[in-house]
Amino acid sequence: ARPVIAIVGRPNVGKSTIFNRIIGDRLAIVEDKPGITRDRIYGTGEWIGRSFSVIDTGGIELEGEDSLLRSVRMQAELAIEEADVIIFMVDAKAGVTNADEEVAQMLFRSQKPIVLGVNKVDNLGRMDDIYEFYSLGFGEPVPMSGAHGQGVGDLLDAAVNKL
Ligand code: GDP
Ligand code: MG
Repeated sequence: ARPVIAIVGRPNVGKSTIFNRIIGDRLAIVEDKPGITRDRIYGTGEWIGRSFSVIDTGGIELEGEDSLLRSVRMQAELAIEEADVIIFMVDAKAGVTNADEEVAQMLFRSQKPIVLGVNKVDNLGRMDDIYEFYSLGFGEPVPMSGAHGQGVGDLLDAAVNKL
């Protein structure tokens, strides 16, 4: 079976945008599990000769989930279960939020290899915005822009290196 890379993070940081850039048109069809909608979230990717599965955990919809934080937490739990490497995605425009810190704690406890991707770094003048993300405790953040694709290669370099 292919190794699995999961993209985790609170809503609106750009997970689906990056997911689509990684998979291109290699979307995988999966059956939903009872109580969990998981279609449209699995794809395959290839980078420097490695193939892998990718999961966009933000697309996992849990029936009866009321609070946003609860659903982000459950999505992260599913990702931790399934993934060999986790891409933890945050938003340079928003900075570090409480929900980011919540996800960071769960990921830290999981002891899975983590790559910290800072999205929405749309121009290099915004590089200063990435330093605060060191505080999440996952080392050097990888800046990227889903809007024009810059940095996605660096992200995949880092993720594939940890497989
Ligand atoms: P998700 O909820 O984490 O899956 O986030 P989405 O991929 O749906 O993106 C949320 C919003 O951020 C959308 O309006 C995207 O167009 C926007 N977005 C995604 N990537 C970037 C980026 O690199 N720069 C900017 N400025 N906006 C982005
Ligand atoms: Mg999404």
